[in-house]
Amino acid sequence: MKRLSDYLKEEFGEKVYKLSLTSGCGCPNRDGTVGYGGCTFCSDLGSGDFAARGDLDSQFEEAISRIRAKTDASRFIAYFQSYTNTYGDPIRLYDLYKRAITRPEVAALSIGTRPDCLGPEIMEMLIKLRDIKSVWVELGLQTIHERSAERICRGYKLPVFEDAYRRLKACGITVIVHVILGLPGESREDMLDTVRYLAGLDPPLDGIKLQNLQILEGTAMAKEYDSAPWPMMSLEEYADLIRECISILPKDTVIHRMTGDGPRKILIAPLWTLDKKRVLNTINRKLRET
Ligand code: SF4
Repeated sequence: MKRLSDYLKEEFGEKVYKLSLTSGCGCPNRDGTVGYGGCTFCSDLGSGDFAARGDLDSQFEEAISRIRAKTDASRFIAYFQSYTNTYGDPIRLYDLYKRAITRPEVAALSIGTRPDCLGPEIMEMLIKLRDIKSVWVELGLQTIHERSAERICRGYKLPVFEDAYRRLKACGITVIVHVILGLPGESREDMLDTVRYLAGLDPPLDGIKLQNLQILEGTAMAKEYDSAPWPMMSLEEYADLIRECISILPKDTVIHRMTGDGPRKILIAPLWTLDKKRVLNTINRKLRET
């Protein structure tokens, strides 16, 4: 298993921290282009609840000072997480991302997006940025199962992911895939099948974010859960599932995340995720036992 912290040290020779930034993009799964209302688990902030706001320079200032309050960090990943960060005018986005990636303190650029928002102009932009520094693209797949994808209103099918994945990898972009464990209606085997599929990708996947489903206030999923709650995994069950997911993944796949990180104030379930230290300790204990 390769942890993100080890990979970053290997790659950049020092500890590198993520700056959560916003690009000002919306999401086609919210504005009616693909769907209205978005993925049912997604909060109003488009899964970017901790990102800095304002113009790019002040976002950098705010995000860096937040990290420097706790560390002596000097190098960073410029991370555009919320909404769909390749959904917009490619000229504006290129200008924004170029300003971010060329800052001397930035080691790499990380862009979270959907696989159906990677058209030719955006790919061209990514290639130009990749020629400057390392570019990561994070794809929110969540599951390979179409019935679950429909239930969470993901708004695209698996072949769309496969096509985008191959095109990104062919251009030398680092690809990280998000998976949600514990989606309603999915068995443990269903979740493991998603991880097995990702483990078998050719060319191999660079990184993965594994996170437990978190039900957040104000989301469509919260309404669904309220009207017909389904059983949530216990912490022990979740930690054991993570252990098995990691045993399936190739040793070189970088594990970017092993737990959910939603905002505490609006978390409905599962409440054990509030104690992140305990969650990680339990996972690490399970990993040591293998
Ligand atoms: S999870 Fe991503 S793709 Fe889905 S609605 Fe939220 S921002 Fe859009």
